Amino acid sequence: MKTTQQPSNGVRYAIDADDNICSFDEGWVQFASANDGPELAQPAIIGKSLWKYINDETTLKLYQQIVSRVREGRSARFSLRCDGPDCRRLLEMTVRAGEGNTVEFETRIVQLEQRAPVTLLSRNTPRSNGLLRVCAWCNRIETESGTGQWAEVEDAIERLRLFELPMPPQLTHGICETCFASMSKRQIPKRSAKGIK
Ligand SMILES: [Zn+2]
Repeated sequence: MKTTQQPSNGVRYAIDADDNICSFDEGWVQFASANDGPELAQPAIIGKSLWKYINDETTLKLYQQIVSRVREGRSARFSLRCDGPDCRRLLEMTVRAGEGNTVEFETRIVQLEQRAPVTLLSRNTPRSNGLLRVCAWCNRIETESGTGQWAEVEDAIERLRLFELPMPPQLTHGICETCFASMSKRQIPKRSAKGIK
């Protein structure tokens, strides 16, 4: 496994007092283009509500809580996974208050590991109607609905025998019990890089 320490090519964006995206930097453009999300790199996202881009309701509420805590004068820093089909990424996100009730988000890659591409995670893969939940914070996949069983994508593919299916299921974002518990605490803990295998 190749592990690279990435220079801190961070991604920064900000929302205005009404929670609309008001700025994003070159890092955001590069990240969106490199990760199958070129539509997110368009100037057209300026003025759009940040919340429009978060589909899962629990994740949405958590982010909204973080934003309101930050507006109350606290800053937040936490780790999250943002894997691509051929890499695992551990990010550190810092959220802080800016001028005029704006809120700034800064994401920095803490650790990056290359891996063999995982078809399940590629946006261009044709999908069946089946659904699989992915935790938006740790990127683990729910292996058995409602039982609190979540696994790293490679393990989940084995356990669920996804390689035997003609087409992989669709992915939907959610949050696992572990991440929900740690993110719901008043003080957002800073996680270690141990979650990354
Ligand atoms: Zn999780």
